[in-house]
Amino acid sequence: MANRPPRKKRRTVVLQGIGVSPGYAIGRAHLVDRRRLRVPKYHITPGRIPAELERFELALRASEEQIRDIKGKLESAGEEHFLILDAHQLMLKDEMLVEGTRQLIQDQAVNAEWALKKILRSIKRIFDNISDEYFRERRSDVDFVGDRILRNLMGSTQPNLSLVDSSSIIVSHDLSPADTAFLLKTPVLGFATDVGGKTSHTAIMARSLELPAVVALERISELVGSGDMLIIDGSHGTVLVNPSEDEIRSYQSLQMGYSTRRAQLDLRRDEPAITRDGFRMGIQGNIELAEEASIVLGYGAEGVGLFRTEYLYMNRETLPTEEEQFEHYRTVLERCGDAGATIRTLDLGGDKFITPLRISREMNPVMGLRAIRFCLREQGIFRTQLRAMLRASIYGHLRIMFPLISDVTEVRQVKKIVGECRQELAAEGQPVADDIPLGIMIELPSAAMIADLLAKEVAFFAIGTNDLIQYTLAIDRANEHVAHLYRPLHPALLRMLDRIVGAAKAAGIPVSMCGEMAGDPFYAPILVGLGLDELSMNAVSIPLVKSVLRALVRSRCVELLAEVMQQTETDDITRIVAERLEHMLDGMIPPEVFRPDPRQA
Ligand code: PEP
Ligand code: MG
Repeated sequence: MANRPPRKKRRTVVLQGIGVSPGYAIGRAHLVDRRRLRVPKYHITPGRIPAELERFELALRASEEQIRDIKGKLESAGEEHFLILDAHQLMLKDEMLVEGTRQLIQDQAVNAEWALKKILRSIKRIFDNISDEYFRERRSDVDFVGDRILRNLMGSTQPNLSLVDSSSIIVSHDLSPADTAFLLKTPVLGFATDVGGKTSHTAIMARSLELPAVVALERISELVGSGDMLIIDGSHGTVLVNPSEDEIRSYQSLQMGYSTRRAQLDLRRDEPAITRDGFRMGIQGNIELAEEASIVLGYGAEGVGLFRTEYLYMNRETLPTEEEQFEHYRTVLERCGDAGATIRTLDLGGDKFITPLRISREMNPVMGLRAIRFCLREQGIFRTQLRAMLRASIYGHLRIMFPLISDVTEVRQVKKIVGECRQELAAEGQPVADDIPLGIMIELPSAAMIADLLAKEVAFFAIGTNDLIQYTLAIDRANEHVAHLYRPLHPALLRMLDRIVGAAKAAGIPVSMCGEMAGDPFYAPILVGLGLDELSMNAVSIPLVKSVLRALVRSRCVELLAEVMQQTETDDITRIVAERLEHMLDGMIPPEVFRPDPRQA
């Protein structure tokens, strides 16, 4: 046999997307082909019309059988998923879809695929104009049913999920609710999709199944073939395609450590976070969707500390109505019970974009018409949201929070508007809770510097370190080139935090932190030392932060803070915090505490 040239070593391809569900998965890709079909258009002779109608009929029948088959395999996967599949079956009998397509084949003498495609487009347009979110979301069901019939017409294969096994990582352009329902029955290792965001169906499902998932990878479904080796790092939004043996080994150890620690931490996640010397830190959850309230509570949160409502306004063509928002806020408040929920008014602009609102393109959006500035300009939108919140207030303990406040005038303006909405609702006979604390995010250096003045105006402070750091250190939080300068222990930051907490204490109002710094256990001793009352963070961080807090001694944290306040350089401060933390944790340090990012390990 002729000598083969030495095989080229395959290079690992690292893809960056959005991590929407944390943890690590190592396994073989199972490609679910959900790419758009190229639908041909051709005219047929009048004599061929009956045959074309018959072809369409057969495709409908095949689709019906396939859905029935999936339902049969699912059996006990849960009512919700059955309902989705029932809806798909009904859609196959929908008059507009079926009759509309037949009519078009006859009237225009075109092929069935093309007629169906046109009808699907007009049905989707109708869905777009419905203001109710539930019905609008059904638009994706139209897509999936349409896709199924089209594939049957074109002889293209349906994504085959029956070959999926428990060592598969699902790779797809997107996943349908029917796909995910099926996957509930055959547990997989994780998900990686081209499209999607935090609020996409795959993301929500992955979080509730606690499976790692990365979305918005753009081209993973083109780059990866079934059987390719993958590593999914859902905590950092990365996917390694064809990793080396060394990479696999290093992620295996990260994964093992991660699951062992998660299991241990889970045992005590519902217990409060009380330091060794008896200080109880309040722990709350950050959410972006109403449905996530149950998830954060499940991870041990004592209520919701930040509901980022701007997600209600994203990925859609119309604004959310008062009624629709009311339902979301009510759900969160009811789930949180006595612990209550802090609902933040919309924070759009900056790096958070939105479809229906044409926010003018700004040279520097982070410093532009964002958050409260936008709301004070677009008062109609603001008032609709406030009315929805006030109406929901009778279903639990509501706290309303305003983002990006820079001065006292803004606070007085928003309080006046809230008062007016309250009066309006009273005049309409709509009940509103008597006592609704109104608080503000402290996330601008200006607000930090006048925290004493602001504290006299509001019922609570929540420190938003993501923005406070961005604006104080002039580091664009979305720019990877300056990410290394994003340092929460910078002396300027520590001084600001100290000042904010001091002002809150002097005014007798509670102060929490809800930026990412709050959920990073490395900073826990500093946050205890500063005297924060509550920390609000993403669900999965809760058990770890609680466990680190339980190992701390508050008096020592206060001493540590005093010591680092004397330091002049961030590196020295970081080193001292690491030493003290190690000492206080007494050898029980979970690796995440010191190496939150495995790529920096
Ligand atoms: C923050 O800025 O720290 C914060 C919690 O708000 P967001 O991340 O939504 O801007
Ligand atoms: Mg912010």
